[in-house]
Amino acid sequence: MPAELISGTAVAARVREEVARDAAAVIARGVTPGLTVVLVGEDPASTVYVRSKEKACREAGMNGETIRLAADSAQEVLEALIDRLNADPAVHGILVQSPLPKHMDENAVVRRIRPEKDVDGFHPVNVGKTLIGEPDAFAPCTPAGVQELLRVAGIDTRGAHCVIVGRSNIVGKPMASLLIQQGADATVTICHSRTRDLASHTRQADILIAAVGRPSMITADMVKPGAVVIDVGINRVNDASAKGYHLEGDVDFAGVSQVASHITPVPGGVGPMTIAMLLRNTVRAAERTLERQAAGA
Ligand code: NDP
Repeated sequence: MPAELISGTAVAARVREEVARDAAAVIARGVTPGLTVVLVGEDPASTVYVRSKEKACREAGMNGETIRLAADSAQEVLEALIDRLNADPAVHGILVQSPLPKHMDENAVVRRIRPEKDVDGFHPVNVGKTLIGEPDAFAPCTPAGVQELLRVAGIDTRGAHCVIVGRSNIVGKPMASLLIQQGADATVTICHSRTRDLASHTRQADILIAAVGRPSMITADMVKPGAVVIDVGINRVNDASAKGYHLEGDVDFAGVSQVASHITPVPGGVGPMTIAMLLRNTVRAAERTLERQAAGA
């Protein structure tokens, strides 16, 4: 029987409605939540992402601004800009769009952002707080979006064996951090390119999360019948269409949807959740500013 589809588009729309309500409540208290995205260079995919983040902010009633720097900008110029945004009370969230040009030190840039404004959740303070399970952590948006999808789809992670394929700092590792917390209570296995006999691990998954960046690499024979399959991958695959490419996930959707109980599509799965969670983090950042002001901090 074909798997039930988990629609990220539908869940993200609900999250964005909630965010708009929360933003309106913050605005009523005199503060408009604001996200500033910094784009260095003109990478076409990044330009599209940045534009959609700005538009999503506006649709939620928030301020969304993009600051563009030339691709050959010096590291010091970017860091000076971050310092200015750190000090700007109208900016609640700062996001520096990845990838940065090769001459820049991305780690130093992430560390420069004040953790209270790091709505991407990549600053080591937020990474640590997410792992510890502290409630004021900003969890990275993509894994937080996956968790929200599972929650809304009624998938119980408690006691489930979640196998994550991919150990990146933006998806795989924080995904594991979230799922091992008390409350989520999953048993987590993380696989990567050095994992021996990958399929022997993926076949044990009650919930399989693919974040690899290799089109359709998870095939039906790697999936336990009845498993929930979440496809984080977004891969551009060249084809003969007028556009010249199509988007494909890390999961062979046609095959795996015959075996899994639930599956996310690409596009329309995890992708829309990432922006929705970014908006949610930005509103939280603005709410915390108000709380700090009220506490006189
Ligand atoms: P990275 O390239 O940073 O990480 C990929 C991971 O996959 C690495 O840990 C790598 O292992 C592992 N890997 C590579 N090949 C294999 C293999 N043959 N078997 C097992 N593991 C393997 O990618 P990201 O985490 O940044 O992104 C993963 C995918 O998710 C991409 O398609 C990306 O476009 C998409 N993505 C989607 C987002 C969304 O909003 N939906 C947001 C972010 C990413 P090792 O560490 O050993 O190299």
